[in-house]
Amino acid sequence: MLNKAAPSADHQGGRNPHDVLQSVFGYSAFRGEQEQIVRHVMEGGSALVLMPTGSGKSLCYQIPALCRDGVGIVVSPLIALMDDQVTALRQLGVRAAAIHSGLDSAVIRATKRRLRDGDLDLLYVAPERVLMEDFLNTLEEVEIALFAIDEAHCISQWGHDFRPEYRQLSALRERFPHVSCLAVTATADGPTRREIAERLKLPTVFTAGFDRPNIAYVVTPKENPRDQLVRFLKSRAAGESGIVYCLSRKRVEETAALLVREGFRALPYHAGLDSDVRAANQSRFLKEDGVIMVATVAFGMGINKPDVRFVAHMDLPKSIEAYYQETGRAGRDGLPATAWMVYGLADVVTLRQMIEASDAPDRQKRVERGKLDMFLSFCEAARCRRQTLLNHFGDSCEPCGNCDTCQVAPKTFDATVAAQKALSCVLRTGERFGAVYVIDVLLGRDDERMRRLGHHTLSTFGIGQEHSERAWRSILRQLVVHDLLQVDMDRHGGMRLTDEGRAFLKERRALQLRLDDRPAAKAKALSRVPKPAPELHSDADVELLRQLKAERTAIAREQGVPPYVIFHDRTLIEMANRRPTTLQEFGTITGVGQVKVERYGQRFLDLMGAA
Ligand code: ADP
Ligand code: ZN
Repeated sequence: MLNKAAPSADHQGGRNPHDVLQSVFGYSAFRGEQEQIVRHVMEGGSALVLMPTGSGKSLCYQIPALCRDGVGIVVSPLIALMDDQVTALRQLGVRAAAIHSGLDSAVIRATKRRLRDGDLDLLYVAPERVLMEDFLNTLEEVEIALFAIDEAHCISQWGHDFRPEYRQLSALRERFPHVSCLAVTATADGPTRREIAERLKLPTVFTAGFDRPNIAYVVTPKENPRDQLVRFLKSRAAGESGIVYCLSRKRVEETAALLVREGFRALPYHAGLDSDVRAANQSRFLKEDGVIMVATVAFGMGINKPDVRFVAHMDLPKSIEAYYQETGRAGRDGLPATAWMVYGLADVVTLRQMIEASDAPDRQKRVERGKLDMFLSFCEAARCRRQTLLNHFGDSCEPCGNCDTCQVAPKTFDATVAAQKALSCVLRTGERFGAVYVIDVLLGRDDERMRRLGHHTLSTFGIGQEHSERAWRSILRQLVVHDLLQVDMDRHGGMRLTDEGRAFLKERRALQLRLDDRPAAKAKALSRVPKPAPELHSDADVELLRQLKAERTAIAREQGVPPYVIFHDRTLIEMANRRPTTLQEFGTITGVGQVKVERYGQRFLDLMGAA
């Protein structure tokens, strides 16, 4: 007989957080700041919680909601996120439900009835719904354990996911000042953080640092992006799930088609697809193993899939925050994962162009320009990627050994002369040619076009032969990033000197740049970045894990839910290693709560007995 507290809410009042952690979630200990936060909320406190993705923010409000009397109201910005959480909680035997625009009115009515009857432990609600007068009135009639505001950065105009409905949530605090409120987010720089705390009147802030130690960061110059992507994917273990981000719908389609031709299970996702197709592709990504989603950034927020093994960027995100958030979708389960990105001059140009062309007010454009520049300096940085990222969020670490610059330390060189040559060459050719032609002049490519334009007689013709074409591409890109050159999209990508560029020549300034001329050596070294491998000891364990996964998939299919809400990979790996023989022992595996012992214990024990 299992000696655990029942998870149902019959035990009103004093349920102990540790017991609930073990009996409902199957975890033996709190992680990091969780315990402190849970205690704070149990004592009636409110707080802002800044913790990285995958660190277990949800438990910080789910456990107090289960321990305290009344229902926990969770405000969440996305339907997919709510549904995923509700599905996972129901698997744990928790009485959870959601109210959002994706549900029909009969279901919503039934949920409201359960709310009034005190028959819910956790209720997920879309922000615009929670603020309806009618709903607020209902809330006044029921006992509320706490409010949780998920993805709280959506409140902030500084954040990149600003949602106007979120701003109104301060009304919730005014109307229910005595109810604990926990706002959680994985992304918030200084101004965002202050804005959330102010708006929601949150006196306390818990931060857990921003590091995602299990993510390896790789940023590499764009040569031939499609080949580079295919090579990257082929270097990985077969059957991994991942996301490939592209900037445009067209590029999503092309890349997905390419990957399918190359034998990957790739699906496209972007706002231009029919909503049915989008929903079907998303559901396959969640429910099947080894699907690669090729997507615009329209995809991802609200995707809680824990076993995303890589996030690849074919185009640049628009800020460090966006990069951190998008790459953060990898490795929520804590197992090794990779954030891989290629970037080139064209990306810089396109993004700058998009900012200039938008209708945003000047003030906002200025902020966006600044954010993009900050991100570009991350790309060009010669130091540890993780350090650069963490510093941006006011955090720090030692060089990590698990990013491209740690693996293959980039050299910097005195680029003063190279920059002078490149800038003069742009000047002499009349500030109207693109990078490819400027490089031809620097290298002294004597062809028909060159002769027709008479550029073979220029003093800058052939003065750059000490660098390769690839090196020049990198130099020109960095000159654009450093704002000495600018690319004029209205004139077919012609390059011009900026005022800074002119001053640089005139005042004979000095410049250090990053040397990017050894891509082959770098690619080779990076392929030594340890591949994610489950921590199993023998072939028999590997085979057992395969069977356990198949069983999990079968159960998930029967119930129409994603496999990871049945058990996480971690749990199956521990099962394969420990091979429990009794239900009692089965219940001691990490991630196996009491309800899951009852529901699935025997099926998995039979499988392990037979293996
Ligand atoms: P976040 O919301 O911060 O991204 P989640 O709440 O989704 O993170 O948790 C990430 C993963 O860590 C989940 O699989 C969760 O079950 C697991 N987890 C959370 N807390 C613990 C804990 N104390 N012990 C073991 N696993 C935990
Ligand atoms: Zn590093």
